[in-house]
Amino acid sequence: MTNYLYVHIPFCMKKCLYCDFYSIPFESSITEDYINAVCKEIKLREESADSLKTMYIGGGTPTIFSEKDIQNILNAVKENCFINPDAEITIEANPGTISAHKAEKLLKSGINRISIGIQSLVDEELVALGRSHTATDAINALKNVRRAGFMNVSTDLIYGIPGQSLAVWELTILKIIELAPGHISTYELTPEENTPLHEYIKSGRIMLPDEDVISEMYYKGIDILKTHGYIHYEISNFAKPGYECIHNLNYWNRGEYLGIGAGAHSFSNGKRTANLKDVPNYIKNVNKGKLPVAEEIEITKDEAARELIFLGLRKTDGIDTSLIPVEKRELIKKAAEELHDHGLVEIKNNHLRLTRKGLILSNEVIVKVLLRIDANRP
Ligand code: SF4
Repeated sequence: MTNYLYVHIPFCMKKCLYCDFYSIPFESSITEDYINAVCKEIKLREESADSLKTMYIGGGTPTIFSEKDIQNILNAVKENCFINPDAEITIEANPGTISAHKAEKLLKSGINRISIGIQSLVDEELVALGRSHTATDAINALKNVRRAGFMNVSTDLIYGIPGQSLAVWELTILKIIELAPGHISTYELTPEENTPLHEYIKSGRIMLPDEDVISEMYYKGIDILKTHGYIHYEISNFAKPGYECIHNLNYWNRGEYLGIGAGAHSFSNGKRTANLKDVPNYIKNVNKGKLPVAEEIEITKDEAARELIFLGLRKTDGIDTSLIPVEKRELIKKAAEELHDHGLVEIKNNHLRLTRKGLILSNEVIVKVLLRIDANRP
């Protein structure tokens, strides 16, 4: 039984040019069936979660649904699980789908944290990303949720956008800081394969900023946010003290969670499961009273150690070395020594963590540690 619940809403207004998540265009005709199926799945899995410490409604764009639809999901959760009075209850929102009135209703329904996909405050950059909102919409969304009374607000920003300069990135962060969200995430734009953005770059139609400039953007973001009192607690995440995302920390700590909805993932009893992605198929299965599971994988001891590395190293606190399985400690220590020689990791207070230099190379560092574990697999 887990205390962490995730509900997935895989609908968006339109597909962003860089997005490789599973999400489909919003159709009002499917809303009712989807919400009903989600509520039924919550009932089907009532034994799996209780005494909730966090609930996270993510997507896609959950605020594409009306406040009444979202309330219906919350009601279904409340009927089946106890929600701790101090639970963190988050909803993801995109500018253009969150008015002050809607934000007020969401707050009244018990949601106490909102995460807004601002991404940029420059219209040309938003066009380059294929976002369906303007910079004014983004600022209004942030003001609307504040006006409605949300105290715990998070904003997502993207750097490394075609046409973006270091100076403009700095200005964007400073403007966001002025609006005082408790939590800010900064993500590097990654042109994933099979996205239009990837195609445009491959064909030379657009260009990303220089790699060195992108690194500078990352470190500039860290420095500005630190100067303004934000704690850098995960590779891409910053929070004022007490505003760290408890739900996401549970993922990085390899905690168990239950995922509800099409394509949602769960982790419990050493098994990772994924729900059916296809929305009509998901609805059909749930309506037949069947758990909509597409895949279930038993996590072996080796895989658990790998997860501990690639999730734990994301936190700036790193991994508590006492949690590393005894049989892997020597191997990981060896990898850490090599990486330490290059100034990429350090062990401090019994925690293995990335150094400032290692942060931007986190993927390479993590792969090196994992290869060391794999190479010694019996
Ligand atoms: S809003 Fe988010 S989930 Fe939807 S298409 Fe854009 S990036 Fe993807």
